[in-house]
Amino acid sequence: MDKNRAWSMPPRTAAAIAREELPLTRVVQKFGGTSVADPDRLRHVAGRVARQVAAGERVAVVVSAMAGHTNQLVRWVEDVGGPTADLAEHDVVVAAGEQITAGLLALALQRLGVPARSYLGWQLPLNTDDAHGKARITEVDAAGVRAALDRGEVAVLPGFQGVDPTGRLTTLGRGGSDTSAVAVAAALDAERCDIFTDVDGIYTTDPRIVSRAKKLERITYEEMLELASLGAKVLQTRSVALAMQYDVPVQVLSSFEDKPGTLVIADDPTMEHQTVSGITYSRDEAKVTLVGVEDRPGVAARIFGALAEANVNVDMIVQSVSPDGRSTDLTFTLAASDLARARDVLDPVVRALGCRDLVADGGVVKISVIGVGMRSHAGIAHRMFNVLAERGINIQAISTSEIKISVLIPAEYTELAIRTLHAAYGLDADG
Ligand code: ADP
Ligand code: ASP
Ligand code: MG
Repeated sequence: MDKNRAWSMPPRTAAAIAREELPLTRVVQKFGGTSVADPDRLRHVAGRVARQVAAGERVAVVVSAMAGHTNQLVRWVEDVGGPTADLAEHDVVVAAGEQITAGLLALALQRLGVPARSYLGWQLPLNTDDAHGKARITEVDAAGVRAALDRGEVAVLPGFQGVDPTGRLTTLGRGGSDTSAVAVAAALDAERCDIFTDVDGIYTTDPRIVSRAKKLERITYEEMLELASLGAKVLQTRSVALAMQYDVPVQVLSSFEDKPGTLVIADDPTMEHQTVSGITYSRDEAKVTLVGVEDRPGVAARIFGALAEANVNVDMIVQSVSPDGRSTDLTFTLAASDLARARDVLDPVVRALGCRDLVADGGVVKISVIGVGMRSHAGIAHRMFNVLAERGINIQAISTSEIKISVLIPAEYTELAIRTLHAAYGLDADG
């Protein structure tokens, strides 16, 4: 795929298309929850897609559930099935939101005279493994969608859902429609994947928290991967990983305004990198402390092995020195949404190991400062700790990599910490 062509191509005229002077291109357009939040917005989206079709592009559309619907479905699952509800049935329920918007968008397009058809996850099929609730895509069969596009139809696909090897419905984790869109774009060898959302691009930090956040014209896959994995939910992490792997140019832009967004593309030598390119926060964190853990080989392996078996990812880990050489405290963080499951798994292990207590704290947030330029700059962490200390914000855990520093702090300081750090690293927009 020629990466540059997607944006440098002149707009096609209907006459040129009719004369077949220019090849038709395939694009994937994904619309998030706020963009399809009600019938009026769905009609607005249909209008946008229709214009794209009239401009000569063959469009596969991926849609999210209407804003708030997935949360409502999750609440119903928890209400009826309890906090550790069966994940296969959880998926059957929560995937329903996207099915509704896919059907409605196909109807809205038909009313505009655009031939359109929906294709559900199992119909493509979009194959995944069987890790219900956070399934990974194994293969997308886009032959049917490609044929539909070639017939001049718009294919409307519900994001977020797939099918496992036994034919059961799966979902791809929260925010997973982004990943569906990029996977379909890769399978269709699409020219680009447009992600339409409720902000007009990717910013140095969440523009809803810092009004002086700066919009980026472009960002590399690598930097975006880091931003996303550390909490910038504007793109689901796995969608960025897939885009990078299959070299799919992604554009994030507003579904409400007609203006250029942010391009997510491969690095090129002319791109300048700031030392710090962005700041993220993740509220979906819980801190677990095991008090009085025996200090001997094999204990950590037992604890984290049990969590891994239950598909619970652990992030930061802090083990304090044991004052008496016999027992210590072990603190780690995991996704807040995994906490109930983690407790279930850990209770018997904690009893078997004779730990004194298991203390869980959901009132924490992880703040991260990110930048590939950090590799060659010292003092970034020092400034972060200083700035937080000056504001009286206590750090509960720290983790670092070559290109990021993350700290765990009490949730009530989220906004203060982000705003202060954004200014301290010189990221605030002028004016
Ligand atoms: P959608 O429903 O369209 O998928 P999301 O809510 O998942 O939208 O993602 C868009 C939101 O991501 C924005 O409303 C914004 O608050 C948030 N966000 C967090 N970090 C960033 C960032 N660095 N740049 C832009 N938006 C961000
Ligand atoms: N509807 C799902 C969610 O809210 C998937 C998505 O919107 O990307 O997480
Ligand atoms: Mg999203």
